Amino acid sequence: MKFTKYVCPACRQKTGIDILYGYPSYETFEMAERGEVALGGCCIDLEGPERKCSACAHEWRIMRREVKLV
Ligand SMILES: [Zn+2]
Repeated sequence: MKFTKYVCPACRQKTGIDILYGYPSYETFEMAERGEVALGGCCIDLEGPERKCSACAHEWRIMRREVKLV
C-alpha cells in the first residue's frame, strides 16, 4: 500500500496524510507508526474528516463523499 502526502489547508505544508477508518491491519499499524497514515478508529464516520496534517494536527474533509445532484 502506498501513501500520498497532501498540502495542508491550514499550514500550507505538504504534511497531510489520509485518515483510515476501520480495523487496521498490521501493515496499516506500521504505516501509522511511521506517520504515513492516521487511524480514525474502528467506526466508520461518514461525517468525519478524511485527511489530517501531521505537522499542525489540522483535520479536514475532501468532499469526495458528497452526493452529486444531476
Ligand atoms: Zn497543517
